[in-house]
Amino acid sequence: MNIAPITVNAIINGEKIQTDNKITRENPTHPEQIVGYAPNNTREQTIQAIDAAYEAFKTWAWSDVEDRIARMQRAIQKIKDATPEIAELLSREHGKALYDAQGEIAVSLMWMEFAVENVKKVTAPEDRKHETGRTIITHDPIGVVSAITPWNYPISLSTIKIAPALLTGNTMVLKPSPFAPLAVSRVAEIIAEEFPSGVLNLVNGDAEVGIELTSNPKVAKIAFTGGTNTAKHIMKAASETIKKMTLELGGNDAAIVLDDFDVNDERALRRMVIANFLTAGQICMIAKRIYVHRSIYDAFVEKYIEAANKWIKVGDPFNPDVTVGPVNNKNQVEYVKSLVEDAKNKGAQIIPLGTILNPELMDNGYFLQPTLVLGADVHDRVVVEEQFGPTVPILPYDDEEQVIQLHNESIYGLTSSVWGEAEHAIKVARRIEAGTTMINTAAIQGLDVRFPFGGVKQSGVGREYGLDGIKSYTETHVINLPNDLELPYIPE
Ligand code: NAD
Repeated sequence: MNIAPITVNAIINGEKIQTDNKITRENPTHPEQIVGYAPNNTREQTIQAIDAAYEAFKTWAWSDVEDRIARMQRAIQKIKDATPEIAELLSREHGKALYDAQGEIAVSLMWMEFAVENVKKVTAPEDRKHETGRTIITHDPIGVVSAITPWNYPISLSTIKIAPALLTGNTMVLKPSPFAPLAVSRVAEIIAEEFPSGVLNLVNGDAEVGIELTSNPKVAKIAFTGGTNTAKHIMKAASETIKKMTLELGGNDAAIVLDDFDVNDERALRRMVIANFLTAGQICMIAKRIYVHRSIYDAFVEKYIEAANKWIKVGDPFNPDVTVGPVNNKNQVEYVKSLVEDAKNKGAQIIPLGTILNPELMDNGYFLQPTLVLGADVHDRVVVEEQFGPTVPILPYDDEEQVIQLHNESIYGLTSSVWGEAEHAIKVARRIEAGTTMINTAAIQGLDVRFPFGGVKQSGVGREYGLDGIKSYTETHVINLPNDLELPYIPE
């Protein structure tokens, strides 16, 4: 069904802005259909948005936290009410299956509610009297935050920043990805309407807007989720004015299957398949390489294929039986294809997985049949690069030291998972270099918004979610009143 395209706004200082120059977002399932348009904002407009946030900060920073909470609660309720419409829009512009889009909004709301419930705990000032005087410690907002987000989870990766930033008294300019700008713009508009003008601004565009957001001296913090290479540019741009930053970057998460994993555990295998192919594999924290102990390798591969063939149903995101939709954009299709092709040319076996429910869509839409790669070398591109698409290699290993080394030699360290007897798995997990390691589950299934999330090494800087994810929008300010006002060793 071809639905009339929508047009979303930029929001600068409370005003809804349109531009002649627009970003066009096509439907990945039917690329000839336009889902909608977003403003392609200029650098000038980006500066206006930053200026508005900078001015708004002067009063918002001192606003009452109860007032901020009440506003955020109203926004949460409005997003809840609008979820069916927003999920449908997200699914159409992104390509993710409708249940997946609904799940993204549900996780976003869960996090927003957690931030509302915990902001006072994180920002409560301490006032301590002690033997050498009195010390007051406050947790103050930082200033203008530039939030830059990717296309794969546009709503959750924006609200993960918006909620704690605004609740702690910061102001923000949000820039979503041009590959999925529509649904998140609706969410941002709902939130912005509940807050004073200038507190939440929204601009769209690509690198040019991004460069202004990361170099403008009025920006105090950058909250970025995206690729590691983009983050390198951002760090350089931000270095001139030493901005605070949270960087949530790429990953090449491994699933390590121990020799005591039960290959007949169908629920566990289903969880692993989901951890590889949810959102067509386009998740930072999805398991992107599976290492299996050689003693169970053959049996595991056989059972994995069975489980994958059961769960993976590729087709129209609005077909309720579909679990895996198209890939979001053409570049990503070509990139994933190139990794699979490279492995194939080097002798790997490529096994197609799942059932195609809408074969009529496959050639025209940005679809890829999910694949398993067997027999790849540990250094092949499909193993060492982040595929961010529906393909996964399975590789055998001989001993735990070897697999821990294979895991840890990656430049990435976002999440990981270990599968087997729980205590054994925990022992191995302790040796893994990653921000999160899940036992007998992986990816979104094991995510808990109450606990910090983020990467080590080139997977990131800082943490989102959890109390740390709220605290990262504050600066600690110490007000000290010592009893002894003069130091004895300083001469008269
Ligand atoms: P990307 O880095 O290409 O783009 C991310 C955002 O940065 C977009 O909004 C883009 O317009 C903007 N941008 C591009 N150039 C810029 C510049 N020079 N300065 C400032 N901003 C700029 O990433 P993507 O392709 O949208 O997303 C995929 C990547 O995101 C993957 O690597 C994935 O692993 C990562 N990711 C990480 C997490 C996490 O939590 N760690 C979550 C989701 C996605």
